[in-house]
Amino acid sequence: MSNYQVTAIPALKDNYFWCLHQDNNALLIDPGDATPCIEMLKKNQLTLNAVWITHHHQDHIGGITDLAQQYKRPVYGPNDDRISGIDHYLKQGDSVSWQSHQFSVVHCPGHTNSHVIFWNPTQRHLFCGDILFSAGCGRVMEGEAADLFHSLQWIASLPQDTKIFCAHEYTEANLGFALHLEPDNHALQQRRHQVKELRAKFQATIPTYLELELATNPFLRSHLPGIRQKLDEMAGHHHIADALKKFQLNTEDEYYFAVMRLWKNIYV
Ligand SMILES: [Zn+2]
Repeated sequence: MSNYQVTAIPALKDNYFWCLHQDNNALLIDPGDATPCIEMLKKNQLTLNAVWITHHHQDHIGGITDLAQQYKRPVYGPNDDRISGIDHYLKQGDSVSWQSHQFSVVHCPGHTNSHVIFWNPTQRHLFCGDILFSAGCGRVMEGEAADLFHSLQWIASLPQDTKIFCAHEYTEANLGFALHLEPDNHALQQRRHQVKELRAKFQATIPTYLELELATNPFLRSHLPGIRQKLDEMAGHHHIADALKKFQLNTEDEYYFAVMRLWKNIYV
């Protein structure tokens, strides 16, 4: 089976919209703004087949209406009344296909309640919306920190060579917090060096690989004793302690993850 290419459309402040294309056919994931998408499609003489949406935030859905008007193609996404223009609702366990490539739909709450992600087990491609970023993860905008923990754990269980297409270029800032937690992590130091070079040339640090994230992303590493020691020291901080009370945390793993997520919110 011939394969598709994936092209990032950098847009808005720091978003990546993902365009999958094969021959002249194209699929857009999370087009938060129609203009750069239409430009990209025209420039490459691509025909839009469908639009897939991960979650309701404006920077992921802002292009739906204009794209639908211009191309009249189906829009797939979660059943959430905060998103208008979806005509095919997706839920956990669904399978969606494009150009004979099959993707699993995985419900990954934690950033938002209805967030879904798209997993292609054949190509080992993951389009994860705002769940995971390189060296970081999404904020808990609604629901429970424990939900986000379990969503990230699901990602962590995928094959290590999984290519991860995140929706934002946040890597450089995330690495500051990651290195604060693990100053002696050699893989992190290398990643910072690589990211600095890429960003100096205005190049993307995304996609990333699961193997790299397992070695450098603190949100996949909150089980490590050295990290937990630092989290213990921060857990009493009044902002963190107050916010922790609002979460339902049933296990030690969920607790430490929540402390880390809350700490990152106030880390400068
Ligand atoms: Zn979001």
